[in-house]
Amino acid sequence: MDDADTELGEGWILIEEGFVSAVGAGDAPAADERTSLGGAVVTPGLVNTHHHLYQTLTRARAQQATLFEWLVELYPTWAGIDAEAEYAAARTGIAELLLSGCTTVFDHHYVFPRGRSGLVEAEVQAARELGARLVASRGSMDLGVSDGGLPPDELVEEIDAVLADTERLVSELHETGPGAVIQIAVAPCSPFSVTGRLMTESAELARRLGLQLHTHLAETVEEEGYCRELYGCTPVEYLDSLGWLDGDVWCAHCVHLAPPEIARFAATGTGVAHCPTSNLRLGAGVAPVRQLLDAGVRVGLGVDGSASNERSHLFGEVKQALLVARGRGGPQALTAREAIRLGTRGGAAVLGRGDLGSIAPGMCADLAVWPTDGLELAGAADPVAGLVFAGADRVDRLYVGGELVVQGGALVRADEREIATAQRAQAARFAP
Ligand SMILES: [Zn+2]
Repeated sequence: MDDADTELGEGWILIEEGFVSAVGAGDAPAADERTSLGGAVVTPGLVNTHHHLYQTLTRARAQQATLFEWLVELYPTWAGIDAEAEYAAARTGIAELLLSGCTTVFDHHYVFPRGRSGLVEAEVQAARELGARLVASRGSMDLGVSDGGLPPDELVEEIDAVLADTERLVSELHETGPGAVIQIAVAPCSPFSVTGRLMTESAELARRLGLQLHTHLAETVEEEGYCRELYGCTPVEYLDSLGWLDGDVWCAHCVHLAPPEIARFAATGTGVAHCPTSNLRLGAGVAPVRQLLDAGVRVGLGVDGSASNERSHLFGEVKQALLVARGRGGPQALTAREAIRLGTRGGAAVLGRGDLGSIAPGMCADLAVWPTDGLELAGAADPVAGLVFAGADRVDRLYVGGELVVQGGALVRADEREIATAQRAQAARFAP
């Protein structure tokens, strides 16, 4: 996943101080420690560009709903979220992501019930304990149902409180520079749950503090209808009118884009988080990924929330991206290697991280080691393509900054059964 798409047979990777210092084929250089990965395929760690970790608590609900119906049904349940539940949910989602080859997790949290604190901090604690990189967002909603928005009034906040809490989290948690483990992004939820003023002031804050900026956009036909009725334009035109579209912005979904809007994304450098499984589950449609890539738009993959996916399996999205692109545009629409690129280098570009997404000198030593000796690849002529076509289930090993966080297909720092047990206990509090 370097600029030349290099693939090395019989390769080696030299890691120093959490970064890749050299890569090659043939005789390996001298090193203090050696690990043989004989027979495995090593890819860069995957980068997730859209998620709502808390939604692992409310899976398999609203099973036949459209996005708006699904949201309206689930908002009141989500209003019960607290730090304890968020911690259990984050551990669940991050554990699944790590086992599926993901080393960097973006989480879009936007539900902040009044009087509850420590929600973003709970995610950060879970990520640190399990060994993942985390880009957490201080999301927001301020357009309640009585003002024409979709969420209930008790789940919306005051603009000043949102912005002040974002600044607080940045000063306490946000790291900069190569190898950053914890970062904060600014992420008002969507055009139908956030006022134009909060959208604008969020962008101003992000740009003043040098943070990445994110929102949901153009996910369903209902959202387009909502924007046309309320704002007299499409969701993309609306966001553009607020001065949002730029190289520090990425938007989730972007299923419903007209050709001039794709060109506008390309011209402004705006990125896209493609979430194919969630889009299929909610019947939203299929994003025009081939057209976005041909136009030069940055595109990464996201699992989206686990109440609409229902897994946090990022390699599953690599396969899904391949299939939906081909369902839309035929078998030439996306290659297996392009699909892996979306999940690695593409995701890193979307998050504005030049230190992630490829295995090359100077990059973070975030590596996914895929076994090739299982049933699903037995007989595969090309193990790299085979991983995508078969839909690899689990990494054998996962390194984050050179540290081993998955070994032998199991978490190194936690027990997944214990995580699932704790999660079930928390989820029972949200039972229908
Ligand atoms: Zn989402």
